Amino acid sequence: MRRAKLFLIQKLPRHQLIRFSFIFSNIFSIFLKGNKHYCPICETGFSRFFSYGSKNRNNSLCPGCLSLERHRLLWFYLKNETNFFRDKLKVLHLAPEQCFYRKFKKMSNLEYVTGDLNSPLAEVKLDIHKMPFTDNLFDVVFANHVLEHVEDDVKAMKEVYRVLKPGGWAILQVPIDTKRDRTLEDKNIVEPIDRERLFGQYDHLRLYGRDYIDRLASAGFNVQAKRYCEQLNEATVTKSNLMQSEIIYIAKKK
Ligand SMILES: [Zn+2]
Repeated sequence: MRRAKLFLIQKLPRHQLIRFSFIFSNIFSIFLKGNKHYCPICETGFSRFFSYGSKNRNNSLCPGCLSLERHRLLWFYLKNETNFFRDKLKVLHLAPEQCFYRKFKKMSNLEYVTGDLNSPLAEVKLDIHKMPFTDNLFDVVFANHVLEHVEDDVKAMKEVYRVLKPGGWAILQVPIDTKRDRTLEDKNIVEPIDRERLFGQYDHLRLYGRDYIDRLASAGFNVQAKRYCEQLNEATVTKSNLMQSEIIYIAKKK
């Protein structure tokens, strides 16, 4: 039974995990309370995090809020380096991650809008290629692990740019193979098994390389790339098990 539960947690797509999450977080977080690890998002200590992902990463998924290593890293970045928790901001969160959604929705400084094609957490049903918003509307846009799934990622980036206010910023994280110079993309690769083999997941349409930053720039953004783990102390990185290899891309509208 326990193995079956762990199998579900590791293999289910995240949008399905969302549906089961209330059961997960209520039951498992009680049994795993502890001091060894700490999730900054749900502000809870645990004896360990769950394993997660196709490569079964140890100590990855928070039992309390379902955050992963990259979510906890981004949380620290937003807290320490931006005005996100302080200023009055109009925020668009595409494909909202549940761990963030629960917290952002309660923040009184945010006017918080969520959007997606399918997510049960999204209040606006939308296609990122053509969003139902006027120009220059949002201070901040999040679209994490979205662009590797969409047909025309540069068009989607341009849409995000369009709806941002001048001076606004977006966080558009994607999986990147940093050993690769150029993004691998082929419209003829349509079978899930081939996409999994070439692009890393059955529903990914490309595998980004180090030229990801150039794609963002081609959509108009001024981009900063930060290896933010390097700016945190080692004890924090270990205790909250942050994604050390993750580069955070901050895409600003000029
Ligand atoms: Zn958590």
